[in-house]
Amino acid sequence: MLKDVSVAPRDFQEYRVVIDYKLFEEIIYLSGQLRNKRILYINSNQNRGGVYEHLTSLIPLLQNLGIKAEWKAISEVPPDFYEATKRIYNCIQGAEYVLTPKQWKIYENFNKGIAKEVEGDNWDFVLVQDHQMLGALSQVRNKRRMKWIWQSHSETHNPDERFVNHLIKYLQPYDGVILYLPEYVFKNFHPKKLVTSTIAIDPISPKNVPMNKLKARRVIEQFGINSHRPFITQIARIDSWKDFPGVVDAWLIAKKKIPGLQLAIVGVVSLNNIHAKEIIDQILEKTKGEEGIYLLINTVERENIKAFQTASNIIVQKSLREGFGLAVSEALWSGTPVIGGNVGGIKVQIINGKCGYLVDSIEECAQRIIELIQNPSRARAMGKFGREYVRKQFLLPRLIRDEMQLMIDLLD
Ligand code: UDP
Repeated sequence: MLKDVSVAPRDFQEYRVVIDYKLFEEIIYLSGQLRNKRILYINSNQNRGGVYEHLTSLIPLLQNLGIKAEWKAISEVPPDFYEATKRIYNCIQGAEYVLTPKQWKIYENFNKGIAKEVEGDNWDFVLVQDHQMLGALSQVRNKRRMKWIWQSHSETHNPDERFVNHLIKYLQPYDGVILYLPEYVFKNFHPKKLVTSTIAIDPISPKNVPMNKLKARRVIEQFGINSHRPFITQIARIDSWKDFPGVVDAWLIAKKKIPGLQLAIVGVVSLNNIHAKEIIDQILEKTKGEEGIYLLINTVERENIKAFQTASNIIVQKSLREGFGLAVSEALWSGTPVIGGNVGGIKVQIINGKCGYLVDSIEECAQRIIELIQNPSRARAMGKFGREYVRKQFLLPRLIRDEMQLMIDLLD
């Protein structure tokens, strides 16, 4: 049911030169209070996406700080579980409440197994990532033996009240909750302890180390893209909330004004997304006979993502809902402006008109693409601004500090 995920070792000392010295010292101090504590992180996916990126950096850093952090992902998932959790994910983000009692039962049964497995060990803290195992704590017999924290990565935007009323029964026993933004707290839910802190990029991770433009162009050429022509990219899991069809439509409009404009869709299909094929078919249908489209699904290696973020004229993140959207900060950190959907976590990362644009429609997206391609100096200035903004707001050590502080508060 739960499978260990291994991570490459990291050295927290490397952050000394990247982050504010006070924050660096604070983290060292806080880690002393958690030394030798056993912390279990559980997530659903070992196959990329924002949570994967986060844990890949966080776990080895906590270990390096003397904390016994481990990461386990769910495995041997029963049939129909992902259909149920996909619906929960959609409902959490505001879609229609369509879960059947049978699906809740499938969800609870799987979570019962997870609870049993976790209880069989001696953890000090259990951090449940996202919603798939959220129901585990409600199945635990002695809820006070370990501290349980729910860390949500979704845009918990105005869900159906009946759905929330059901979800709250799983949520209420949690000792602590971490949400990205204060407005993500469900109505009628009163967490015992709430921390709001966004996920953040890891500046030391090989994925985010700067790449020079020349090298980036050489990499993207390997995928067939012409680096002498303008090109835009969206990088995301293939998921309906990421609005890939909308990106294609915006590109088709912009292309009429910018002949030769290319679009790269760099997508990953996670194991638990059962609807990805429909989205890919939609993209194929819309781009039939079009020149300059690069559909790169499960094709671009993790270490080459940076090349797309560096060499693209613009990164697009046209999501319809977005908990945070790590890919936005990654792109800004690469010095590239981002045009993003005016939703959730994207709204806090893009200062409209400063490091890119927030857009509410396909047409607006297309207009902003045209504007930035026609004004390379404006695009460059935005990219530069974006990088500094990310440095101040969205680097991982801030989140590490906030998570540690929450755990220490719970020990008290
Ligand atoms: N990503 C990747 N390869 C891909 C597509 C996405 O490595 O083909 C990474 C992307 O760089 C980012 C993460 O997956 O680090 C997506 O995180 P985000 O928070 O944007 O979205 P989520 O998947 O969490 O909804």
